[in-house]
Formats: sequence, structure tokens, C-alpha cells
Amino acid sequence: MELNIDSLYNNKDLSYIDFDLSENIEKINFSGIDYILVSPLRLNGKISKAGRNYLLQADVSFRFLTECGRCLKDVETPVDYKIDAYLMREEYDEDEYEDIDVFDVASTKIELLDIVNSTLIYNMPQKVLCSEDCKGICYECGVDLNNESCKCSDSADYDDIDPRFAKLKELLK
Ligand SMILES: [Zn+2]
Ligand SMILES: [Zn+2]
Repeated sequence: MELNIDSLYNNKDLSYIDFDLSENIEKINFSGIDYILVSPLRLNGKISKAGRNYLLQADVSFRFLTECGRCLKDVETPVDYKIDAYLMREEYDEDEYEDIDVFDVASTKIELLDIVNSTLIYNMPQKVLCSEDCKGICYECGVDLNNESCKCSDSADYDDIDPRFAKLKELLK
């Protein structure tokens, strides 16, 4: 997903360029895991001049498959976020850009996918559930409690596991 900003670089009268790009990408790697994309990756926004450098403002959106944190079923999960980043042609003082993303650009060909990859870390959903009231999997026998019930007495929601309770259970054995 390369964007050529030659025109912005060469044309003094041009202050920004718009783009709206979509690319079919099979998977993205995040935290060492490959995730399958189930939609094209879309990136739309603009790049404007900021002195001798550039400001990138774009919306990223795609859908990917991940497991429900309770029952492990695959869930199609949307990701939507904004990138606000400076693209630097010049040397800069990192301390001045603490609150904003900064990327070095060596040419007028901007590899947008690299920028998406480096911004994913702040924007991927942390905990995905197939539904807010997913009952999860029974710790004891492993059945999916959304589909069947089991006789294990104290199967509890993952969120409700109390370590003190588990300890007590251990003592009663
Ligand atoms: Zn679930
Ligand atoms: Zn069970």
C-alpha cells in the first residue's frame, strides 16, 4: 500500500493530497500472532505539508478473526482507528514529539502498511468476546456452556474466578 507524494513534494501550490486506498491483505501479524483479515484493509485520509515535513491523518479500518476470550469461538472483530502522525524528512528532536507518532520518510514513496503495522499495537482490541454474556467453557469438563450445560457444580465465568475460592476447593478435596 504505497502512496506516492511526488506531486505534493514538487508542487508549491499544493498543500495536501487525499487518498482512499483499499487492499486485500491475507493476514496481519500482531504480537507474534498472525490474524486472518476478513475484509480489505482500508485507509483513507490526507497527507499535508508541515514545513519541510508532512502530517498524515488517516482512518484505518478492517475486520479480522480472533478467538472469543471465554469460549474460544472465532469472532469477526472490527478495528477502526485514526492515525495522526508526522512523516519526517528532516532530523528531529524526539522529545518534542512525545504525544504524537513520528515516522522517518526517506523518499516520496510512503509505505502506508508499515505505518499501519507500527500503530496496531495501540489499537487492537484487548479482549474480544463473542457476546457480552458468553458463558464460556466449563473449567472442569470443557463443554461450551453456551450450547450445553454440565453437572460440574462450580463452573464459573472466567471473569468471576476468585483465587480464594479455588484454594478452598482444593482444601475440600
Ligand atoms: Zn464466547
Ligand atoms: Zn463441566
